[in-house]
Amino acid sequence: MVAEIISVGTELLLGQIVDTNAVYLSQWLAKLGIDLFRRTTVGDNRQRIAQAVREGLERADLILTTGGLGPTPDDVTAAGVADAFGVPLTRHPEAERWLMALLQGRGIAPSPTLLKQADLPKGADWLPNPVGTAPGIWMERDGKTVVAMPGVPAEMEAMFEREVVPRLQRRLSGQVLRWRVFRFVGIGESALTDRLGELMESANPTLGTLVKPGEVWLRVAAKASSEAEAEALLDSMEGQIRRRVGEWLLAVGDEPIEVLVGQRLRELGWAIATAESITGGLICTLLTEVPGSSEYVRGGIVAYTEATKMSLLSVPWDLLQKHGAVSAECARWMASHVRARLKAQVGVATTGYAGPTGGEPDKPIGTVFIAVSTPAKTVVERYQLRGTRRQIRERAAHLALVQVLRSLREGATGG
Ligand code: ATP
Ligand code: MG
Repeated sequence: MVAEIISVGTELLLGQIVDTNAVYLSQWLAKLGIDLFRRTTVGDNRQRIAQAVREGLERADLILTTGGLGPTPDDVTAAGVADAFGVPLTRHPEAERWLMALLQGRGIAPSPTLLKQADLPKGADWLPNPVGTAPGIWMERDGKTVVAMPGVPAEMEAMFEREVVPRLQRRLSGQVLRWRVFRFVGIGESALTDRLGELMESANPTLGTLVKPGEVWLRVAAKASSEAEAEALLDSMEGQIRRRVGEWLLAVGDEPIEVLVGQRLRELGWAIATAESITGGLICTLLTEVPGSSEYVRGGIVAYTEATKMSLLSVPWDLLQKHGAVSAECARWMASHVRARLKAQVGVATTGYAGPTGGEPDKPIGTVFIAVSTPAKTVVERYQLRGTRRQIRERAAHLALVQVLRSLREGATGG
């Protein structure tokens, strides 16, 4: 199966937004084993959308579009797709019913403008939108398929994963593809693949590695005629992976690290508190982006200056004199103090030099100390990060969460 992606939106052409939808879909197509040979961007223009779809259909079996499905006059993707197939737009009764119920549930009057979203190319199937109001479009003709999805990334992703992926999998020679991501820390990519040995050559499931900040990911994908069969293949491969490299396994799953940390804290019934200097609150921001995080996030202290470190975190003056604020000693103090002060089981602290100026000869820009304190122990790691000020701060926040997750895993195994 060969696919193309068409991103619809004048904002994209003007450079006002970045086409993250196309990146997301590209990654998914690769995972699904569908070849992607071309990506196109067009503005919110009915003729040009129709033309792009028509041209795409000459080359590919599957066209995925995002954007322009909303209720406003500049949302013309449905009309463009209809034109490409030479069919009119007609109100889809089932989509309309779904939309009416949705609007009613939200206490919104079903205006003609909003209901226009249920006007789909004649002969098309509709796709429920798990997050928003614009239904998606699934249009098949002569063995070729056009799928139109909304532009808002959360809507597009939810619709793609829930509605489109299962249909595509069934289409792909009746086989389903399931995968599992194994995340490792403390072991490099080559050492990991060495230890996995001939497993890396496995044809089904297939194994592939991906280097991520502070982690190495191993993606294992299995193909089978049913989901249960594919899952069984994954289970058996998981057993072999755990036997060979289980000691470095951080987590299973490709959720954002803050979600995994949250899950683990919940399992343990623990709470976390942050004491942030270089990350300026980013760790706490990430943690609290997860719905329901109030159950396990106690809060955080952003202590940016030495004076604030002393006043809010009781960092002793002589510790700062002797080791400096950017030091393992200071990070250790911050983590264990915030843990006690906010009555949490886990404290995490960061201190470092984000640049672009500053640093010391033996602690250049990018030096970051991250401490994680649990009832069992406090562990401090030193990192040397590269990049812009913003990248260094974001990487430090991510690494801090990796380190937290590692401590939580060790906390549970007593390691
Ligand atoms: P709406 O119902 O909100 O109008 P829509 O399906 O019509 O949704 P658009 O109007 O094209 O989608 O885009 C809505 C918003 O979604 C854009 O303002 C932008 O923030 C985001 N967006 C659209 N396309 C993309 C894209 N390709 N990548 C990332 N974000 C996008
Ligand atoms: Mg729109």
